[in-house]
Amino acid sequence: MHPKRRPILAGNWKMNMTATQARELASKLIPLVANVKERDIVLSPPFTSTAAVAETVKGTNISLAAQNLHWEDKGAFTGEISADMLLDLGCKYVIIGHSERRQYFGETDETVNKKVKQALKKGLLPILCVGETLAERDAGKLNDIISRQVTGGLKDIQASDMQKVVIAYEPVWAIGTGKTATPGQANEVHALIRQKVKALYSPDLAEGLRIQYGGSVTPENVSVLMAMPDIDGALVGGASLKPESFAALVNFK
Ligand code: PEP
Repeated sequence: MHPKRRPILAGNWKMNMTATQARELASKLIPLVANVKERDIVLSPPFTSTAAVAETVKGTNISLAAQNLHWEDKGAFTGEISADMLLDLGCKYVIIGHSERRQYFGETDETVNKKVKQALKKGLLPILCVGETLAERDAGKLNDIISRQVTGGLKDIQASDMQKVVIAYEPVWAIGTGKTATPGQANEVHALIRQKVKALYSPDLAEGLRIQYGGSVTPENVSVLMAMPDIDGALVGGASLKPESFAALVNFK
């Protein structure tokens, strides 16, 4: 954590939580995090539960993120969701390029980049996800993969828009596996991402950039991760599905 960067804790509910369950989870969470002031708290429900959560968290310190969006404004794209639809529901952020979307739904650096551009054009704050697989790490390709994903995802993004971007480093091998990167491993990659952004933009932008870590973050390991100088938040899957555990994460010491 860095004194200049406001921590951002986001819960990615993935394909979990009906609207009824989502309303209940959000209602239970609200009082548990009501006193949190200097941190951004974000929930990312599935699309069909977003309206229910938006209604529930209205007027609280909790913001909403979508899990995906389409890069076009509107039209014949069956099954897709536009930025305007998300804005209309009250979404502030949008997760883009999550490794599950890259792995199972064919997202590439090119489509990820189109989505980042669309989010920025429309006034949504992108959470751009990057991360290597175990095979890539073992093959010594970590730096190449991260550099490619950061450069590709941010292609043609102006410096003036970069202040709105959050990057999430999520090693694929640590997602939902119970294997967390050690704080040192995570920080090393965060520093690499910051270095890359510094080279692409400027030292100031790199210093202001918030980089979340994701991959089996729990109430037990969040504090040591957040103590690292380049880790500015967490993107949390499994542990965000219970109000008590997500609240404990948000309230990390
Ligand atoms: C995620 O998918 O963003 C994630 C980090 O999941 P988990 O916390 O369950 O590993």
